[in-house]
Amino acid sequence: MSREGMIARGEQVESEGGVVWCTMSRCEDVWKGCQRDDITSYEECIVSKTLSHYIAGEWLTPTGEQWSDDINPSNSSQVLARVPAGQAGVVERAIEAARAAFPAWKNKTGSEKAELLHKAANVLAARRQELGEIVAQEVGKPIGEAVQEVDRGVMILRYFAAEAVHPLGQVIPAQKAGSLQFSMRQPLGPVAVISPWNFPVAIPLWKMAPAIAYGNTVVWKPAEVASLTATGIAEVFAQAGLPAGVVNLVLGKGSTIGNVLTGHAGLRAITFTGSDTVGMQIAEQAARNNIKYQLEMGGKNAAIVLDDADIDQAAKLVAAGAMRFAGQKCTATSRVVVAEEVNTRFVERLRAEIAALPLAQATDPNSAVGPLITADSLEKVGAYAELGVKSGRVVLGGQRASRGSLSDGFFFEPTVVTDVPPDARIAQEEIFGPLLVLHRAASVKEAIQVANSTKYGLSVSLFTRDINAALEYIQDIDCGMVRINGDTTGVDPHAPFGGMRSSSSHSREQGPAAIEFFTETKTVQINAAGA
Ligand code: NAD
Repeated sequence: MSREGMIARGEQVESEGGVVWCTMSRCEDVWKGCQRDDITSYEECIVSKTLSHYIAGEWLTPTGEQWSDDINPSNSSQVLARVPAGQAGVVERAIEAARAAFPAWKNKTGSEKAELLHKAANVLAARRQELGEIVAQEVGKPIGEAVQEVDRGVMILRYFAAEAVHPLGQVIPAQKAGSLQFSMRQPLGPVAVISPWNFPVAIPLWKMAPAIAYGNTVVWKPAEVASLTATGIAEVFAQAGLPAGVVNLVLGKGSTIGNVLTGHAGLRAITFTGSDTVGMQIAEQAARNNIKYQLEMGGKNAAIVLDDADIDQAAKLVAAGAMRFAGQKCTATSRVVVAEEVNTRFVERLRAEIAALPLAQATDPNSAVGPLITADSLEKVGAYAELGVKSGRVVLGGQRASRGSLSDGFFFEPTVVTDVPPDARIAQEEIFGPLLVLHRAASVKEAIQVANSTKYGLSVSLFTRDINAALEYIQDIDCGMVRINGDTTGVDPHAPFGGMRSSSSHSREQGPAAIEFFTETKTVQINAAGA
């Protein structure tokens, strides 16, 4: 039987070996790795979703691998899928497929590449609700934000579809009279894309869309806890008709296959988003092989609230930046520095704004906060909250949230800790949870100093009406993403994105910045024959 396309609701399809692929009358999906022939209920079918690698246009059901359960963090007893741990041989196959596909893909015209990216955008748009629900279930992103992320993925694909037909070089005056000199940008070759779990649609797409728009091919390793969403995105490319081998999906644990991938001599570049520990290992390996690399890593983002700020606006946006999606964004607000004069008023408004953000299962349409990703994260955030008691004063939250249905998931109460010295661990380290540290400052200068006092430099925000303070802040703040009267989170899909200092390898992603990483420049000079 063909594994291409969607099987309609209730359709009965059998494979050569007599394996029933899909007989469930309530099933609208086709899970290409599902090989069970003993399924008697839809619920059982969900549990049996055994995920496959997607290599050279084929879904490869792994054999002889170890498996892990992909768990719904809102309800940890629900297993969404079984994920292979990954094997070195699979990585080799994927790199080989990307290498084999490269020459033909490189030689496609810009219009042909643009057309395929537009098709992928259309398929993704048609599947927005379904994929949004998968994101909500799999990584615990509240459903409203999860669907918005899929919409953002559509915008990213459309942006880079247009980029595929934009100029790729410049004419440069030659010193020799009558000669023509120009620079031209060319693709690199097979590129590894390694993505984190917290933006399982937008981040892989803001890497893969420019990679393929500029003529590269891709081996993509998503975070293992986002494998179901990754499978959906690979399906989107397959449904759009992307040629075999242009995007290859390898599932598995970073600790099992990460080194095999990043140390492979067949790659020409690695683009990574994730933690700084893993990022720095990748940088070392890439430098050893002298290939291009790009890292976007952690953050400890601050918001500064001056005494002339609109306090209602500041409290609302700081609450949202710190607590939505349980603070699990690289750009989440994890510190707020408040002018002494307005501190009491700000804290009061902040409490009210946080209380207005429902903590609920991610698929609940009212949910704003959602669960932490794993039991380990829950433990880690709890340990930081205990540190908060030692190094400051916990004025809100501080405990695991376990009332009612929340007891089935990894929920932590939105937490605010005040009176913490800026050099305390809780004020310096990335926590990746709904925990906000509040400092007070006596001047604009001191507030900027506190904001700059961690090793990170990703995103920052200032709330003020004072143009002079804003100008001083723009000049002196050490961050890649700088906002005034805005949330530290979020970025327009067509604007450059990235951090300074330990948050990044100092390159930028998205928008017009992406061409810098995904292409290499040749300088060409043509002289007249015989001249
Ligand atoms: P992580 O570093 O644990 O994992 C990221 C990816 O790297 C995953 O696909 C993982 O499987 C893979 N990996 C793990 N070990 C590897 C190895 N040895 N070799 C190669 N790959 C390996 O990060 P995470 O928990 O998925 O994501 C959270 C982190 O990501 C946070 O630190 C957050 O700040 C950061 N993040 C940064 C940005 C940004 O743009 N700056 C955006 C989102 C998330």
